[in-house]
Amino acid sequence: PDARQRRRITILGSTGSIGTSTLDVVRQLGGRERYEVVALTGNGNVELLAAQARDCGARLVVTADESRYADLKDALSGSGIAAAAGRSALLDAASGDADWVMAAIVGTAGLAPTLAAAKRGADIALANKECLVSAGDLFVQAVAQGGGRLIPVDSEHSAIFQALEDDQRHAVERIVLTASGGPFRTWSREQMAGVTADIARAHPNWSMGLKISIGSASMFNKALEMIEAKHLFDVRPDQIEVVVHPQSIIHSMVGYVDGSVLAQLGAPDMRTAIGYALTYPTRSALNVDRLDFAKLSRLDFEAPDEDRFPALRLARTALERGGLQGAIMNAAEEVAFHAFVGGRLGFLSMADIAEQVMDKLTHLPPASSMDDVFAADEEARRVAAGLIG
Ligand code: NAD
Ligand code: MG
Repeated sequence: PDARQRRRITILGSTGSIGTSTLDVVRQLGGRERYEVVALTGNGNVELLAAQARDCGARLVVTADESRYADLKDALSGSGIAAAAGRSALLDAASGDADWVMAAIVGTAGLAPTLAAAKRGADIALANKECLVSAGDLFVQAVAQGGGRLIPVDSEHSAIFQALEDDQRHAVERIVLTASGGPFRTWSREQMAGVTADIARAHPNWSMGLKISIGSASMFNKALEMIEAKHLFDVRPDQIEVVVHPQSIIHSMVGYVDGSVLAQLGAPDMRTAIGYALTYPTRSALNVDRLDFAKLSRLDFEAPDEDRFPALRLARTALERGGLQGAIMNAAEEVAFHAFVGGRLGFLSMADIAEQVMDKLTHLPPASSMDDVFAADEEARRVAAGLIG
């Protein structure tokens, strides 16, 4: 096709698990012939970043880590690819002239760049669920005002998005998020108490980044996804259900007022959701595993246990309280997660910290601007760090 018809894309967080899968999908769907990569961004891993940029012919590469700028320049020498570093360079890259932006930076660090892309009017393929958990409706409004589309990449939300019939949105009764249950699905609290990050990160079905892997073990990831669903699909908290489904074949479901339930199924491979977000509203052929139903033989379901996985209870609390409680829960847990990975906090204490910080900050009024969100995020981090000591 004509070079002018290529879709301009940017990948924020290209060196991560979602980022590398996105580049693979782009390659499968035609690579440079079909896509012009405006910018790739990463953090410390500048060698991979540079290799990715050479491979896909990116125009600009940004590392958030200023101390790695010289290494990034070195790794790109002779390529003609522009390099930049630091926070403001990251924001500039995010607000470049891409038509489609994959938001795959992990954690709250992804919020400001994703917002910048949304305000510019790019279609946002949203992997970074923290954006919606922290900024909620303000983030949805920013995308709407920018004029781009918000397309979920999280497998559960992609499934719901696919199973939502546009003209039947008024007839949605509930959405059912499936959860694998993680590596500790059958463990007691006593067993979980002493686990290390190395044990907790080993997910039975999905291969993912560190934070989301730990979040799957604590089910904090599902807690974030409940809040993400609220804002994406504009449903009431009582319309959001979670069911444990250990095989991770049904990626989530939509229940309608007539009793019908529509589900989306597939192999546990994020490239299907990424490809859908890239080619929406159409579908393109992808080389991913196909389900072999005769081999599957069974799909299991069980109710989640909020005593062993209190993160789910915290999400309900955050949803009921509304306002900035999502931002506070998310920030506190992010601090607790880093403390757990650093060996300074026990596995079960992550939820305790998040709960205490949420309870301490109930007085914060609902956010009227993004500044309020960033301020609440900072305050929650400060309180969490104080509690951890
Ligand atoms: P990851 O840790 O593998 O990758 C994170 C990316 O963000 C990397 O490119 C890293 O360089 C970059 N990054 C990290 N800290 C940064 C900072 N301070 N500033 C700028 N860039 C920074 O994470 P992942 O598993 O790919 O997850 C990315 C996002 O997608 C998360 O929000 C996660 O919840 C969500 N998500 C991931 C999966 C999955 O299968 N991995 C599934 C659903 C949703
Ligand atoms: Mg998910």
